[in-house]
Amino acid sequence: MTGRNDRIEDSSLAESPVERMLAEAGRAFHASEYLATERAARQALEELRAGPGDGLSEGEALTWLGAALTQQSRYQEALVKLKDAERKYGEIGRPELASRALNYLAVVHEELGDLDKAFEIYQRAERAAEAAGNVEMQARVLANVGEAYVNLHRHEEALAALGRSAALLAPLEEHRSLFGWCLLGVARIYVELGEHATALEVFSSALDAARKGESLRVMAEIHTALGSLLVDMGDQKEAVVNLRQALALAEEAGVRQEVFKAHLALSRGYEKFGDFRAALEHYRQYHEARGQVFDELAKEKIDSLSAEIELVKVRHEQEISHLRNVELASANQLLERQKEDLERANELLAQQAVELDKLSVHDSLTGVNNRRYLDRHLIEEMERSRRHGHPISVAMLDADHFKLVNDRFSHRIGDVVLRTLMTIVCKRKRRSDAVARYGGEEFVIVFPETTAEHATVACEGIRAAVEEYDWSEVHEGLRVTVSIGVASNEHADDPQGLLDAADKCLYEAKQTGRNRVVTR
Ligand code: GH3
Ligand code: MG
Ligand code: MG
Repeated sequence: MTGRNDRIEDSSLAESPVERMLAEAGRAFHASEYLATERAARQALEELRAGPGDGLSEGEALTWLGAALTQQSRYQEALVKLKDAERKYGEIGRPELASRALNYLAVVHEELGDLDKAFEIYQRAERAAEAAGNVEMQARVLANVGEAYVNLHRHEEALAALGRSAALLAPLEEHRSLFGWCLLGVARIYVELGEHATALEVFSSALDAARKGESLRVMAEIHTALGSLLVDMGDQKEAVVNLRQALALAEEAGVRQEVFKAHLALSRGYEKFGDFRAALEHYRQYHEARGQVFDELAKEKIDSLSAEIELVKVRHEQEISHLRNVELASANQLLERQKEDLERANELLAQQAVELDKLSVHDSLTGVNNRRYLDRHLIEEMERSRRHGHPISVAMLDADHFKLVNDRFSHRIGDVVLRTLMTIVCKRKRRSDAVARYGGEEFVIVFPETTAEHATVACEGIRAAVEEYDWSEVHEGLRVTVSIGVASNEHADDPQGLLDAADKCLYEAKQTGRNRVVTR
């Protein structure tokens, strides 16, 4: 697994946070920091989930995550993420980009021992890479297939796959390290076949390529394999040189898996050459390095889990505060609505108050002012007349034989007559004159700035208009007349005195035959 070369091409200039995280995932993966890869990929996914959809980046993040999980032997989780990645690429209509994910998916199946499935998926990965025109990816898949066959000791198939991979990589100058890794696979086949001379030649070519590709890790892997062969060949000096070189390179690269493999190879070598003390020392270091790797993996695993828990907590808090805001907003909305309702109610109340006020000064049957209004109005008007020394007159109007109207034509017709009388009066009065219902079928008209003489003329007009009105409109055979008494402030200087004086005149009008206007 550690020897598997699974470098995804470097993301270059990273701009957005997601791109930066994906670039970090790639960097960490190349540095064999699989937990850091996992963290960066998970962060990228988190970021992507918060933002608008970006299937391409999501596919890449899922691929990195799957690859990192694979390297940590967390195969079940890896399977889920890699399948998610494949599905994501399918969704955005770029199934060919799933070649990387499929490559790792095959690795997982291989590691889980399901080789048939692994080979089937490797094949799909290769086809996808080919469709995408990704020669490097195709070569990488073939190299993995080759290594799988090497592990199965199926040398011919291994050679075929590695040969195809090498042929694809040969012209690609920028992928020397992958080429070197591919040749390492070929060399291992020759080692297994016992063709040591050929193996040594291929190792040499592999080293050349890995050097050009500047991959310390691949170089370390080649030196370990070469050193082990030299141990078997009994070339102590060269074996030790290569294995020490492997150890130094692995340490420099910081690839601990290669460090402990080099220690193990050195231990075996020294044991074979009879240097048991050195063998023991390397065996101890092998254990220590190996233990460290797994300890650190465990620790990093715990760290990453804590980080995940922290992330979940933060998300939870965000949700709660979001909910709170939503609740607050809806509470505000409710308050706003209640305020509006209240305002509407107040408006209604104000309207009702106006109506009530109107009702309180108006007579509901005829619509003219009521007695209450008259009392107030007369006080004000008489006070004003007194102040200015101006005249003011009052007329008291009473329907003649109104009882008979009610009796003959019904109370309802009587009501219509009262309303009609007021229409006639209001039409003839001046704007400044006020009309009020005094009681029953009696009405008072206030004439400011008017002498009794002038008021009498006005009242005569009213009387005549009532008499001449076509009452048959109201009821067949109906005739209505009024008697009016007029008085002015010449006769009385307080409201009640004035009204009494007018009433006296009205009485006189009734007494003298009705349908007439009487003044003093
Ligand atoms: P007079 O010419 O002497 O004034 O005779 P009259 O019948 O008009 O006199 P009286 O004051 O005795 O009768 C007034 C009648 O007016 C009694 C009452 O039934 C009637 N009346 C008072 N208010 C109303 C009212 O709002 N609607 C109707 N239809 N009739 C009313
Ligand atoms: Mg009357
Ligand atoms: Mg009356």
